[in-house]
Amino acid sequence: MSKRFAVIGNPVSHSLSPVIHQYFARQTDIKLTYEKVKGDEVLFEQQVSDFFIDYGKGLNITLPFKQKAFAMAHNRTTRCQLAGAANTLWLQENQLYADNTDGIGLINDLTHYLQLKDRKILILGAGGAARGIIHPLLAMNPSVLTVANRTVAKAEELKNDFPLIKCTGFDNLSGVFDLIINATSASLEGATIFLPEHIMARKPVCYDLAYKKNEPTPFVAYAKNLGCQAVDGMGMLVEQAAEAFFIWNGVRPETRPVLELLRQS
Ligand code: NDP
Repeated sequence: MSKRFAVIGNPVSHSLSPVIHQYFARQTDIKLTYEKVKGDEVLFEQQVSDFFIDYGKGLNITLPFKQKAFAMAHNRTTRCQLAGAANTLWLQENQLYADNTDGIGLINDLTHYLQLKDRKILILGAGGAARGIIHPLLAMNPSVLTVANRTVAKAEELKNDFPLIKCTGFDNLSGVFDLIINATSASLEGATIFLPEHIMARKPVCYDLAYKKNEPTPFVAYAKNLGCQAVDGMGMLVEQAAEAFFIWNGVRPETRPVLELLRQS
């Protein structure tokens, strides 16, 4: 019998998670269905409960519901606790469990492009995704980890939870960076974030957590135009999905062939 999985978010129609999980399923010979559910701000908790009552095995959470999912869980993994946001839910002995696989997904993908130890890293954005990647990035021992956000107060809130980071607004951004991670949702709105010239002149590696199927995201296009190596978050998406797949099914799928298939399709 097929196991039932889904991703819930809003917007969610762009999500590649159903395709990725079906690739993993074929690879590992596991039968599953994987739906997209448009989340509702008011009914979110009910939608999650209904999914599990209706024999759902596992649920991925995407923006803007990761904090709500975190709050709903009875049990959380350490990395989920540290992130304060959840992207993976499942039931165990009638209790709702939560994990956050975004951070490990990012690290697993990023290390294909550069080593992170002793690097100066800048994160743009202070939402659920930024929260999920700070601890795993700190664990790689960068020399500096700065978080810049449009709403400075939200970056400052993060500093309360992660005292080792520096935080700032976009307007007074300074310093030099080896790696810039765009964890804002600006690319989803088609908006570009422009950074000070002196920062981009150092040609940092630029990584956009967002991804687009058939074209570069605005941030990737902007960074490439300035001569930087730039990649989108499709690799992270596949890696975080692999971690969720492992939690739910106990089997670790191969990620790079799936990423290649997605890039080709
Ligand atoms: P949230 O809604 O929690 O946070 C959004 C963040 O983006 C906030 O910091 C917000 O700033 C900022 N922001 C939004 N619009 C703009 C803009 N026009 N200019 C500058 N800042 C802006 O979203 P998430 O953190 O959950 O997701 C962020 C991104 O990460 C999304 O693109 C999502 O698709 C991607 N993602 C990709 C994953 C992957 O596997 N590849 C996994 C998880 C996320 P403010 O506080 O000022 O509102």
